[in-house]
Amino acid sequence: MSRIRLPFPSPRQQASSGRPGSGFKARLIIAIVIALFAVLSYYGRPGDENQVTGEVERVAMTEEADEVQMGLQAVPEMAQMHGGRHPDARAAAHVRQVGEKLLAALDGYLVKHGRHNPYRENFNFTLLADPKTVNAFALPGGQIFITGALYRELETEGQLAGVLGHEIGHVIERHSNQRMAKEQLFQGLAAAGGIAGGDQQSAQMAQAVAQMVSMKYGREDELESDKWGVRLTEMAGYDPRAMIGLMEVLDRASGGAGPPEFMSTHPKPANREEYIKHVIADEFPNGLRPGLEP
Ligand SMILES: [Zn+2]
Repeated sequence: MSRIRLPFPSPRQQASSGRPGSGFKARLIIAIVIALFAVLSYYGRPGDENQVTGEVERVAMTEEADEVQMGLQAVPEMAQMHGGRHPDARAAAHVRQVGEKLLAALDGYLVKHGRHNPYRENFNFTLLADPKTVNAFALPGGQIFITGALYRELETEGQLAGVLGHEIGHVIERHSNQRMAKEQLFQGLAAAGGIAGGDQQSAQMAQAVAQMVSMKYGREDELESDKWGVRLTEMAGYDPRAMIGLMEVLDRASGGAGPPEFMSTHPKPANREEYIKHVIADEFPNGLRPGLEP
């Protein structure tokens, strides 16, 4: 998804706002104050309970309505970046139907556990025209997209369910929201580091380190979403091993002209395949029920 602009000033802005010639001691004090502010506003913020999973999480936005609005605002831009909506109405309807099937299955599961899906009415599954970029993504609040290039590569409906289930996972786990909270923390620390160092180069270094740390959280989010891909496909009546087939499809797609976009933001399919096998064994210790669709 596109990067969200944060209200936090960039390290460069912070650094240049200091009076020229101010001593190291003054810079250090400012740096400590900024670092403390960043840490306190992250850890001092009360955790918010996720209504789907029941986990208490640190998030930038506590109201689902804010997430939904943010996602909706980004839809036209995302669609335009990928050639707009796909012209094949039947294929687009197919994507919507499978997405709806997964959500209905999730509803059944949540009712049993006394929980609910606060994004339920706002979910949208859109097939984009883009014939080149093998990708799927989710915006906060339930806007889910798959490109024509990825849709065309899929071999079974279960694999489509796997893609959409993975993206539903990003939404219900509030990954963007949690990442935004973390980025506010890291950017605050990076700004503090830059000021203590006192020149632009160290500010940029600190910023780069902050970005690398945030990336790692992204990868953990991906595996968490793969787990939802496994769960949701099975709940909706698909064989969750379709997720393994999906990884093979993605691996093949990366064999062509450079890695597809899905690879740069997602861990290597081979690593994910091992993880998915492990999740399936873990979630279904007595084996899979009969009659699941491939
Ligand atoms: Zn993902």
